[in-house]
Amino acid sequence: MTTSMRAAIEAFGSANIPIAQPDDDNYRDYEKLVVTSNLLFRFTRPLCVVQPESTAHVQFVVRQVKQRGLQLTIRCGGHSYAGFSTAIESNTVLMNLRKMNKVKLDVPADTVTIEAGCQWGEVYRTLINGNHDGLIINGGRCPYVGVGGFILGAGLGPFTRTFGMGSDTLQEATLVTAQGDSIKVKRSDRVTSDKGRLFWALQGAGQANFGVVTQMKLKIQHLNSKSGRVVGGRFQWFPGQDNLRELQDTMNDFYRVDWPTEITIDSTWICDLREKTGDGVRFTVYYDGSKEDYDKLIDKYIKHRDVNKQLKRRALEEPSTRFLYETLEAQWFDESKKFLAENKTYRLFASFTFNRE
Ligand SMILES: Cc1cc2nc3c(=O)[nH]c(=O)nc-3n(C[C@H](O)[C@H](O)[C@H](O)COP(=O)(O)OP(=O)(O)OC[C@H]3O[C@@H](n4cnc5c(N)ncnc54)[C@H](O)[C@@H]3O)c2cc1C
Repeated sequence: MTTSMRAAIEAFGSANIPIAQPDDDNYRDYEKLVVTSNLLFRFTRPLCVVQPESTAHVQFVVRQVKQRGLQLTIRCGGHSYAGFSTAIESNTVLMNLRKMNKVKLDVPADTVTIEAGCQWGEVYRTLINGNHDGLIINGGRCPYVGVGGFILGAGLGPFTRTFGMGSDTLQEATLVTAQGDSIKVKRSDRVTSDKGRLFWALQGAGQANFGVVTQMKLKIQHLNSKSGRVVGGRFQWFPGQDNLRELQDTMNDFYRVDWPTEITIDSTWICDLREKTGDGVRFTVYYDGSKEDYDKLIDKYIKHRDVNKQLKRRALEEPSTRFLYETLEAQWFDESKKFLAENKTYRLFASFTFNRE
């Protein structure tokens, strides 16, 4: 370990900022802070993981790192495909923001203020606590994705077709610059001003590029569905090894439909040589409306008898808060368990699986 790294670690300790190191007695805490789903990066071992609890802590860390000529990597939910939240160089301090996870919902103002270390599940929880059916926070499908990387990289949510990207809901961001200053930028900032330009950049190009974001204020969205209920569903279709043509024709028809924006159906193609049933497609459904209206849409647009029947049978209407907090998580586990549970040589990494056989 270099003298600079040692001095920085001592400074973090004297400022009471929690840190974790690879040779800690409670090494499991360290492992949790550095773990990554991408097996390519599984043995990166930062010498210091710092866990700020406030914007002031973040400022202190940034100044120390700058003053001592070290590098800094920022991590929120740790879901970067490319390992951008992984500290690869030995002179890098990994800043894990997960201790900054407070969420404040302001229903009259239609906003939610989120500390930048939250995962989406923690944010959705505030809606179910207040039974706020009909309100949507335009976040991720996986409850463990971090708000930091998601919003700063734009972000696609279950109702993005109606409400736009996650970053379209950003109203304000507090960030710590490379000089260690804390600044707030807002949607209302003049677009040609420095602050206005910075705000613009944080809506999709801001992952670790312009500073450490410590807090964000997002606009809450209102569902079209007056009852505050939505439809969620999931169905896997394997037409059989000899019916590839049927699969292709059905999917070509599916992709040609000009679906209304209230509905999103994700389609994941499953090409697994171990499947005796051949190739298939997994449909994941989100609909802002009643089951009755959803069924009508499926009848109107899906002509294949079996797909039509199953898309209706495997979808349920429920309050939007339950959908966000519970069903999204269940859908996600269903989607990933095949890879995570059955075969330890694979980890599901969004649409990629890495094989080390
Ligand atoms: C299982 C899985 C499910 C996913 N589901 C969706 C989905 O439904 N919709 C979608 O759009 N995307 C999805 N993604 C992609 C995901 O949104 C991006 O990978 C996103 O960058 C992850 O954010 P994070 O905070 O979890 O990641 P991290 O790996 O912690 O961070 C990603 C990048 O953002 C930077 N960063 C994080 N927080 C901050 C901050 N506070 N200040 C400055 N920089 C910061 C990091 O340094 C890094 O460069 C998914 C990814 C996975 C692996």
